Amino acid sequence: MKLLVVEDEIQLADALTEILKRNRYIVDTVYDGIDGLDSALTGMYDCILLDIMLPGMNGIEILRNLRKEKISTPVLLLTARSEIEDKINGLDCGADDYLTKPFITGELLARVRALTRRKGEIFDENKLTFNGLELNKSSCSMIYKGNDVKLSLKEYQIMELLISNTNRILPKERIIEKIWGYESDVEYNNIEVYISFLRKKLSAIGTDTQIKTARGIGYSLV
Ligand code: CA
Repeated sequence: MKLLVVEDEIQLADALTEILKRNRYIVDTVYDGIDGLDSALTGMYDCILLDIMLPGMNGIEILRNLRKEKISTPVLLLTARSEIEDKINGLDCGADDYLTKPFITGELLARVRALTRRKGEIFDENKLTFNGLELNKSSCSMIYKGNDVKLSLKEYQIMELLISNTNRILPKERIIEKIWGYESDVEYNNIEVYISFLRKKLSAIGTDTQIKTARGIGYSLV
């Protein structure tokens, strides 16, 4: 988990960073608004801890810019007790939560966990498994015992259909209909090509899961 801390009170920023690092987060820390926006715009963080009053550009403006650029990284606003207006403003601009300074470590960690978990759950929905074999949507790959292999989009879609229909034969017509659509003029041997790629990739990662051919009908995962 990679976090970004944007806070201009250097002591507070460093203390926060220290706490988060001790809790096994990877943390980048910046001390002004301009650096904050630059870093946040990379979209590479799992959560951003964002102070409101900052030199260069304030937290609300950073947030507004981020959301305008369609960057949906969860943002935890760090606010002073007196900044109620800013807090409301911040939530309106797309902040996910806020924490009032001074805060206790336990609360900080709980908020960060909640915000990063939300993302984690979506990630989990993107995982399908069969017999120890994992199909991962966000990375478009298959993983078996730590070995992974990238899939093309079509390979991924075929594999997804197979895993969702285990223990039965998936007719070729249904694969075409699901992946290429009714109107397509995809030939059966196009599917065979993808299936043979998939078989190679399955054996490359060392799983004994196989795609079996039911002659004249379709395929099943065993
Ligand atoms: Ca500040």
